[in-house]
Amino acid sequence: MTSLDGAVVVVTGASRGLGRAIAEELGSGGAKVVINYSSSKEPAEEAAESISNNGGEAIVVQADVSDPEQAQTLIDKTIEEFGRIDILVNNAGINIDKTLKKLSVEDWDKVIQVDLNSAFYTVHAALPHMTEQGSGKIVNMSSFVGEAGNVGQANYAAAKAGLLGFTKTAAQELARDGITVNAICPGFIETDMVANIPDEAREKLLKTIPLRRFGQPEEVARAVRFVVEDADYMTGQSLDINGGVYIRT
Ligand code: NAP
Repeated sequence: MTSLDGAVVVVTGASRGLGRAIAEELGSGGAKVVINYSSSKEPAEEAAESISNNGGEAIVVQADVSDPEQAQTLIDKTIEEFGRIDILVNNAGINIDKTLKKLSVEDWDKVIQVDLNSAFYTVHAALPHMTEQGSGKIVNMSSFVGEAGNVGQANYAAAKAGLLGFTKTAAQELARDGITVNAICPGFIETDMVANIPDEAREKLLKTIPLRRFGQPEEVARAVRFVVEDADYMTGQSLDINGGVYIRT
């Protein structure tokens, strides 16, 4: 039996990519998982099926978490179904990559709304429950790009850097309620989000990564599991899972 056994977990954006891997990893540890998606219904249902086929428990909840009312509904449905919320993983994210000269106000707003504001909306909705329980673990999916910046990703970098500030502040404010708040900063991980990087650009990127490969979603999922299962004395921190991209070789 692990501390995940019976824990109620919400993973936003869990139909594909990192979110799905995180949902499956925590589900395999005995958590009851709420798989959120915005439009990929079938993949979300497949993710839930894969968890139950492994002996776990999962439900699927459609909600665009960039809309505060839908974020609230996601948490309300979690409480209706399971009666509590122990772990919230704010993973949903998009990118609209353009250099600043081409970036429109709409491109900026959309990414900030989905990648940054959604995390406040879900936390805002979950807090009364975690506070009443006197416990909770929040994990925000930031990015290496939020730490380092990246050409063509001003909107994404700003959102991901914003998540780091949010994480540190929320950790300070919520520690007294028994709630920890941490962030994960993945480097380049093989998901749909990076599938369109042209081969030439990929080759260039690989040269900057000491481990000389992109990461796998499962490698990030295991880091999330460490944070929510083992890292009780860790809060306000960010964990870099990036193949050593900061240590040049
Ligand atoms: P992905 O494969 O494109 O999957 C994105 C997920 O987010 C999907 O499940 C998508 O569901 C969901 N989503 C998007 N907008 C949503 C919304 N408004 N409401 C609810 N769900 C929404 O991306 P990924 O690579 O797994 O990325 C997951 C997170 O990790 C993102 O926050 C991303 O920024 C971060 N990250 C990724 C990398 C990387 O290299 N892949 C690196 C660093 C950080 P639908 O299909 O239903 O819309």
